[in-house]
Amino acid sequence: MIRVLLACALGALALGGCRLEPSAPAEATGSADAPVPDPPVVAGDTVRVTPERAAVADPPIPAPPAVTASGWALPVVGVEVGDLVDTFTAARSEGRTHDAIDILAPRGTPVVAAAPGTVQRLFTSDKGGLTVYVLGEDGRAVHYYAHLDTYAPGLAEGQRLARGDHVGTVGDTGNAVPGNTHLHFAVWTIEPGASFWDGEPVNPYELLTE
Ligand SMILES: [Zn+2]
Repeated sequence: MIRVLLACALGALALGGCRLEPSAPAEATGSADAPVPDPPVVAGDTVRVTPERAAVADPPIPAPPAVTASGWALPVVGVEVGDLVDTFTAARSEGRTHDAIDILAPRGTPVVAAAPGTVQRLFTSDKGGLTVYVLGEDGRAVHYYAHLDTYAPGLAEGQRLARGDHVGTVGDTGNAVPGNTHLHFAVWTIEPGASFWDGEPVNPYELLTE
């Protein structure tokens, strides 16, 4: 079931986030003509969420995710450790390195929390498309899920996630090549007091294959 939630879009525009009320009909949200201020700019993000992008899908999660020996969940349901490819040091545009891994899967495949934490930000950006930032329970590791097609119903900033909780679905939003549907999964660690987006990259391939 897919629901377009105008309230979510407006909330995301105003707050840089998306607080969903899954049971509320879209027409009840009212203030479509209200002026919407820009959200704060985060780490090179320039494009804001649109109502179309604020659609959410509600696919059943067909099976629990695979869990690694060190206790991480594979963040794309149906993907096993042996399917992962280490592209952490791969080159990207503008002289950047990837600092992440890409997990290929069909559009709509459920994405789940690789580790427990708290949703810090729901954001749409040029590069990442529809994204979720989760701060891990240690308050230092940030888990970043990008190119999502949809958010999980009701996903909201401040929400606590257990390992394996539904985050969204695989897509090709942002700068992914259209049709090259995958999860861009990154992990970084932040210093105490630092902003959640400003940290030292950690190779997710190594975390997920330990
Ligand atoms: Zn990537």
